[in-house]
Amino acid sequence: MDGTGLARRSVEETTAAAAEIRLRTGTPPCLATVLVGEDPSSVTYVKMKRNRCARAGIESRHVALPADATTADVVAAVTALSNDPGVHGILLQHPMGAHVDERAAFEAIAPEKDVDGVTMHSFAAMGFGLPGFVSCTPGGIMRLLDAYEVGLAGKQAVVVGRSAILGKPAGMLLLGRNATVTYCHSHTADLPSIVRQADVLVVAVGRPRFITGADIRPGAVVIDAGYNEGNVGDVDFETAAERASLITPVPGGVGPMTIAVLLEQTVAAASRQLGLS
Ligand code: NAP
Repeated sequence: MDGTGLARRSVEETTAAAAEIRLRTGTPPCLATVLVGEDPSSVTYVKMKRNRCARAGIESRHVALPADATTADVVAAVTALSNDPGVHGILLQHPMGAHVDERAAFEAIAPEKDVDGVTMHSFAAMGFGLPGFVSCTPGGIMRLLDAYEVGLAGKQAVVVGRSAILGKPAGMLLLGRNATVTYCHSHTADLPSIVRQADVLVVAVGRPRFITGADIRPGAVVIDAGYNEGNVGDVDFETAAERASLITPVPGGVGPMTIAVLLEQTVAAASRQLGLS
């Protein structure tokens, strides 16, 4: 499954929508990024996201907080952005350091600006099947499945991993589309036998090549959300591709779609806040 190509088309549409907003209101969509400390991967992620914004005609505003910023400092910075009408979306990069109450920091993001889908409001809206912003990686996974017209109703979906930003919401979105969903995690007994039942398999574990071809039901659709050192996914692509009917590569699968969804949701947030939709 070509995440790079799909993301390119999605970003083209987002770019056109951003230009339309600017034309009609005189205001460009604006994403604020907040970084606590200088963790090298976080610095790279934020820089990449800001570059992508610039290419799509989305302004970005960066707030850099020192590594010793307290929970109150982060909450104050995020609250200021939530109250700033010139900012339409907020991306608070994590990890923020063990001393910061990350949940409190995320909850300072106004729901209408939660374009990264990290607040309890967004999570609950997804659970209730109500409109709202979804966590970007699961959102990207659903767009990939839709683009390849993968039928989900009545299918056995297995999600390996249950993090609040990835595995858990991915399973909830699949359930919302009438798949029969099973979650696997670090306490799951006989994981391979469950994974082998999957018509649709989503892997989000953070362990290189954790799932191999031998675990995959022939004809299954395999989504590898993993991204490990050395550009390696959580699925062993070579062996899995021999059994799967569709599979995402790493890189070039889920990763580009995550950013595409972030940009799409930022423009949607701007459109709503500027009274266009
Ligand atoms: P995470 O918070 O560390 O969660 C990992 C999950 O895997 C947990 O639910 C854990 O189970 C489960 N797990 C760990 N070892 C296991 C085992 N031996 N058997 C079964 N389950 C096991 O990671 P995450 O943030 O969800 O990220 C997962 C992967 O996705 C990483 O490679 C990350 O880099 C990648 N990622 C990619 C994107 C993207 O844009 N493409 C975005 C975010 C993350 P417990 O809950 O029981 O501990």
